[in-house]
Amino acid sequence: MRALILSDIHGNLEALDAALETVAGAYDVLWNLGDLVGYGASPNQVIDRVRPLAQLNVRGNHDRVCCGLTPTTGFNPVARAAATWTRDELTAANTNWLRTVPQGPLHPEAPGVTCAHGSPLHEDHYILNMRDAWAPLQQMPTDITFFGHTHIQGGFSQKEHDWHELRPRFNTRNEAESWTMPLPSGTRHLINPGSIGQPRDCDWRAAFAIYNSDAAEVTFHRVPYDLVTAQGRILLAGLPERLAARLRDGR
Ligand code: ZN
Repeated sequence: MRALILSDIHGNLEALDAALETVAGAYDVLWNLGDLVGYGASPNQVIDRVRPLAQLNVRGNHDRVCCGLTPTTGFNPVARAAATWTRDELTAANTNWLRTVPQGPLHPEAPGVTCAHGSPLHEDHYILNMRDAWAPLQQMPTDITFFGHTHIQGGFSQKEHDWHELRPRFNTRNEAESWTMPLPSGTRHLINPGSIGQPRDCDWRAAFAIYNSDAAEVTFHRVPYDLVTAQGRILLAGLPERLAARLRDGR
C-alpha cells in the first residue's frame, strides 16, 4: 500500500495542485496530517480538493481555530489576522466539516502506523529536535509515526541507543525531486512529510511524502509550484504581506 501523506497545506491551492499532479496515480490512499487552512488565501478550495481524496484527516491547531473550536490565544498577530480572515471566508459547510475532523493521534488501516499533527503525545507540541522526539519515540505503540506542525521535512529514528535526525538530501532548489529512505523493521521512526503550503526549512518547494508499506520505505518529495499566483492571492485577499513574502524564502 502506498499512502500519500500531506501536512500543513495552509490554504495554498497552487502548491497543493502541483503536488497532486506530480504524484497522480502513484498512491493508493491519502492521509492529511492537518492545518488544511490558515495563512493561505484558498481555504475553501483546499478543503474541497482534499476532502473527497483523503481516507484519514487529523485536525491541526489552525483548523481548530479557524472553525471556531478554540480562540486565537497564543497565535502571533500575523497568524491571528489570517485565522480571523479564514474564519470569515470559510463556507458554513466547510466550517462544519472542519469541526468534525478528529484530534490525533489516529491509526489508519495500515498496521503499525500512527498519524498526528503535532506530537502524538500532545497535538499542539512541536517536535523540533531529538529532545522533543525522545518521549514519543519511546512511548508510541507503533514503530512509525507520521507528524507535521513544524513545517520541516525529515524526522527522527531510533534503535536502542542509536538515534539519528533525518533530513532528505536534494540537489536543486527549483526542480521536482525525490529522496527515498528505507524503514528497517525494529527501528522506530518519527517522520514529517514537510509542509505543502508554507515550508519553513529554507526550501520554497511544496513538501510531502509517500509511504510504501510493502517496500518498507518512505519517499520525500519537493515540487515547485506557481508561487507568484499564490502570493498574489494572499495580497489581493488583504492578508498580511509577510505571508506572501515568506513563501519565496521557505521560512
Ligand atoms: Zn501548520
